[in-house]
Amino acid sequence: MALRKILTMGDPALSKCCRPVERFDQKLHDLLDDLKETLARAEGVGLAAPQIGILRRVVIVVDAEENMIELVNPVIVSQSGEQEGMEGCLSVPGKWGKVVRPNIVTVRAQDRNGDFFETTGEELVARCFCHELEHLDGHLFVEHTSQLYTAEELDEMEARGEEP
Ligand code: ZN
Repeated sequence: MALRKILTMGDPALSKCCRPVERFDQKLHDLLDDLKETLARAEGVGLAAPQIGILRRVVIVVDAEENMIELVNPVIVSQSGEQEGMEGCLSVPGKWGKVVRPNIVTVRAQDRNGDFFETTGEELVARCFCHELEHLDGHLFVEHTSQLYTAEELDEMEARGEEP
């Protein structure tokens, strides 16, 4: 396992469409392990392979029980409801923006051995599924919001009792 550098907005790898995983081999297992170690160190809730410069359809999402789910070749198969909330990204450090997402999202994916499974997330987990899967097509959350805030700005707004 190795800690990888998280690329930030402006890096060309973050705007590329990633290729599907075809071989469920040691190289994939190493990538999944590196993503998990890097995500744990960054204390994030999700990380996609392109964020560490690997253009493959692989993401990690932290679920409601704080387990890290490994999603290989994930696709959203159903979604419902709506939620609006502040969203951030390890590739857009120190900035947050308000983004509308579905409230319940079901993803179909393969595990590290190539077996298919489905998993459903609500609220933050649903948001995270949408956010991470978009990374695989070269999109960032900043495309869905008109204004970005710093942590300081958000603290000041909260102190004044304002909603961003
Ligand atoms: Zn992100």
